[in-house]
Amino acid sequence: MSPRTLTLNDELYRYLLSISLRDTAVLEELRRHTAQLPEARMQISPEQGQFLHWLVGTLGARRTLEIGVFTGYSTLVTALALPDDGRIVACDISIDYTEIARRYWERAGVAQRIDLRLADARQTLRQLLAEGAAGSFDFVFIDADKENYPAYFDTALQLLRVGGVIAVDNVLWSGRVIDPNCTDRATASVREFNQRVFADSRVAISVVPIGDGLTLARKL
Ligand code: SAH
Ligand code: CA
Repeated sequence: MSPRTLTLNDELYRYLLSISLRDTAVLEELRRHTAQLPEARMQISPEQGQFLHWLVGTLGARRTLEIGVFTGYSTLVTALALPDDGRIVACDISIDYTEIARRYWERAGVAQRIDLRLADARQTLRQLLAEGAAGSFDFVFIDADKENYPAYFDTALQLLRVGGVIAVDNVLWSGRVIDPNCTDRATASVREFNQRVFADSRVAISVVPIGDGLTLARKL
């Protein structure tokens, strides 16, 4: 058999964090705060946060789009990688979650880089296109309702510049994608989405097995 990606046990995972995670007090406190919520599992993992931070910095991104904010962790790691005049359009429908997010963005001193739009993300994306924002984004992170992934991806691709990157979270969906007994809509949507991106010649792709599976797609 050819070499394959390692499976991490708890000990090796802790080791990975110990040699890589460059944490800050605000990031750590936001993780701790979110861990108290029943929906805590929706937050990206710390090493995935650092990966996104690294990626946004490597791209030299100035303008990014976030679809699915929750308590603001992925938005925060992105904002911390932007230059002072960088801007994130951040989409969510939840006032309660994003009130927590705003507090931590303030505390990290990056709130002025984040333009939070509280509306269905499909509507916000359409509005951005109508405002003439096509081709103007360097990076997009898709992490909201799975049923709309295909729609988010298509519109995000229009909003992205050539060479820009879309990162899509939860593409391995805790393994449910390969469980034939999982026939719920969200799982079906993730499966359909994965097949569509695989066949999409508009992008160069890599599926990275970090967190719950992250697809990276660069616009050709
Ligand atoms: N990226 C976040 C996690 C996002 S969880 C983190 O790193 O912590 C998914 C979020 O998508 C939730 O906050 C939910 O309110 C939001 N969401 C669900 N449906 C949505 C929609 N139609 N438009 C915008 N946001 C939506
Ligand atoms: Ca997610």
